[in-house]
Amino acid sequence: ATPMSIMVGIGRAAELGVLFRQGDALQVLQGVDVVAFDKTGTLTKGAPVLVETLALDGDSTGLLRHVAAVEAKSEHPLAAAIVAAVDGPLPESRDFAAIPGRGLRGIVEDAPVLIGNAALLQEAGIDPAPLVAKAASFAAMGQTTVLVAIDGRPAGVLAIADQLRPSAKTTVEALQNKGVQVVMVTGDSQAAGDAIAAQLGLTKVIADVLPSEKVAAIQALQADGARVAFVGDGINDAPVLAAADVGIAMGTGADVAVETADVVLMSGDPKGVLNAIVVSRATLSNIR
Ligand code: ADP
Ligand code: MG
Repeated sequence: ATPMSIMVGIGRAAELGVLFRQGDALQVLQGVDVVAFDKTGTLTKGAPVLVETLALDGDSTGLLRHVAAVEAKSEHPLAAAIVAAVDGPLPESRDFAAIPGRGLRGIVEDAPVLIGNAALLQEAGIDPAPLVAKAASFAAMGQTTVLVAIDGRPAGVLAIADQLRPSAKTTVEALQNKGVQVVMVTGDSQAAGDAIAAQLGLTKVIADVLPSEKVAAIQALQADGARVAFVGDGINDAPVLAAADVGIAMGTGADVAVETADVVLMSGDPKGVLNAIVVSRATLSNIR
């Protein structure tokens, strides 16, 4: 491709709200085999809402207050959903710690509280099975489930729902129709990931991955010779945006994601990925 035609292609993409920070990315994108999307905040809106609180002892109000007291110190989107669901003042919490890709712990009213996924409880020597069983029906609907242990014992489950972005499904379908394989990568559970994937019509879901494991997931896709684009929004996504053949960030996401990416979708609309590929193919086919 001539530098001039690349310039024209980048200009056309910009009109569609797709910013190429890297001129080379237009050429690489044209030959991409796989597009891997982060789930939360990329395929979904990233504006989660607490929809259910189940306490094993029946006191869901007490459970929610304990959890929210710890979540008040977290900046995770799930934390905002949980804190927003509580009326009135929260108890104090102390000894807060965040465990990336796992959850949180803290002490509320002298009781140690653990909040997060099954692996978090397991690693603390608490059997998550009774809570995983309670969580199953929510996860099957694509909701994120958060398990809670208090005083070293399983205490309850919270279910949090996020909406799909309006263009997510049509974008996935259109990419597949163009011969591009679409994959989801998420730190959420396999059950929740699979349910969202079914709504979108994609089948390959890499779930339960720690932020540090997302890079290895992309490298595994590349190991077969595939050229891989990754689309993400979060602080944790910066390493994987760098590892992908093309890193694509939601313009609405974390600054570090935008700064690491080769391509930025200004309005945070996943359809921008499709537009970018269409423009890249048109630009490069004109020249041949
Ligand atoms: P994603 O890849 O979807 O952005 P994360 O890696 O941030 O997900 O989190 C993975 C999982 O860890 C969540 O689905 C949740 O179960 C648990 N988790 C992380 N942070 C929190 C939190 N603040 N409160 C409750 N659970 C959390
Ligand atoms: Mg995310």
